[in-house]
Amino acid sequence: CAAVPLWCRSNTTKSSLPTDNSTSDAKTGQGFKGHAMLAPFTPGWQTTDLDPLIIEKSEGSYVYDINGKKYLDSLAGLWCTALGGSEQRLVDAANAQLKKLPFYHSFWNRTTKPTLDLAKELLEFFTARKMAKAFFVNSGSEANDTQVKIVWYYYNALGKPNKKKFIARTKSYHGSTTIAASLSGLSPLHQKFDLPAPFVLHTDCPHYWRYHLPGETEEEFSTRLAKNLEELILKEGPETIAAFIAEPVMGAGGVILPPATYFDKIQAVVKKYDILFIADEVICAFGRLGTMFGSDKYNIKPDLVSLAKALSSGYLPIGAILVSPEIAEVIHSQSSKLGSFSHGFTYSGSPVPCAVALEALKIYKERNIVAVVNKIAPRFQDGLKAFSDSPIIGEIRGTGLILATEFADNKSPNDPFPPEWGVGAYFGAQCQKRGMLVRVAGDLIMMSPPFIISPEEVDELISIYGKALRETEKRVQ
Ligand code: PLP
Repeated sequence: CAAVPLWCRSNTTKSSLPTDNSTSDAKTGQGFKGHAMLAPFTPGWQTTDLDPLIIEKSEGSYVYDINGKKYLDSLAGLWCTALGGSEQRLVDAANAQLKKLPFYHSFWNRTTKPTLDLAKELLEFFTARKMAKAFFVNSGSEANDTQVKIVWYYYNALGKPNKKKFIARTKSYHGSTTIAASLSGLSPLHQKFDLPAPFVLHTDCPHYWRYHLPGETEEEFSTRLAKNLEELILKEGPETIAAFIAEPVMGAGGVILPPATYFDKIQAVVKKYDILFIADEVICAFGRLGTMFGSDKYNIKPDLVSLAKALSSGYLPIGAILVSPEIAEVIHSQSSKLGSFSHGFTYSGSPVPCAVALEALKIYKERNIVAVVNKIAPRFQDGLKAFSDSPIIGEIRGTGLILATEFADNKSPNDPFPPEWGVGAYFGAQCQKRGMLVRVAGDLIMMSPPFIISPEEVDELISIYGKALRETEKRVQ
């Protein structure tokens, strides 16, 4: 290999990270290296050795850094700014509510009108099955933490105090608070944090490309995973298992779509053993998959649902839990006995985020957001999947407006590139140089653009992706 290291398949000596692998332009964030913030999900060396990318403003599908450089925001912030970065109606809704009532809480049977209106609206939005109540939180992590407490409270009230364990899936992401990180099936969230908590078990990740056996069809793969789940339940004792939690499409774990018949078979097992089903719709809800909810797409009939992100188009922090009539009824009678349902946050159902979320839901309805996503999605999916032949790509997968690219050698899930090569990071840096931000996780690249992305912007996204890919291919010899 040459002095500027190319990554040589033929040479087993690992080359170090290439020098132009910096994730930011030289000028970006200059002077903020080693800044005062303990940065989330950022390696310490990045904050000391690299200037941060400092984003200053947003406009539609784009964001701008402090030097005025424009980037197509292919992940919609963190999978959340569904209506893009400059929806005036959301700003106006926030301003109007701020002027009228910036804060009031929802404890002790006091609350605000936008809070109640939003609860009602959410129950009408979710039609995969009837839901009875909405509980408000500030984030997806808080939603999933709260799910655990609701489930325990429910089973304690029913006189089934042994039902305490949760089953989640390897590679799932459910957030980063103590319990949400425990539910998540990603080892970096556990390492050195003394997690997962002992009441959480993990079952198989349903990634067909990576885990299917030779000759196994998607349906057979799903049957095997459902059987493994049943065996886990029987081994642990069904009377100890409280709930199963799943994202309809796994997001941060790598945009993993359920294989054919997966959720039918999993739901049958869960039901058989009187286990609750929690749908973590934090990424999938409000149109991302081309249906209003992921539950609609995969015929999931959850007992509990977690929402956040696109609920307010990411403009203000808000999350929600939808609760089935059966669970709501038990909680209601139990809390009447105990004096209260002693759970909630200062900002549960705070009026400003609720007003913004109400406006977002109004826009989704008025613009028929599901149709908007379905109109643009084929251009996005087909345009990117056309690169599947690249010799450095193992799999491109996605649906609606969510997609991942997984780099691999020999197009095989069993042949990852050496992590030291930083193939994904190099691709991400090439995109950034050309004015596009993508999510890089090792050799995985993820995208979930805003629902308002235009055909021209999709073409730009594909063009930048193509150029970055060609540059990356050149590095791998
Ligand atoms: N659940 C899912 C499926 C998510 O993707 C996320 C965040 O990406 C969360 C939960 C956690 O949400 P938050 O970051 O708002 O706590």
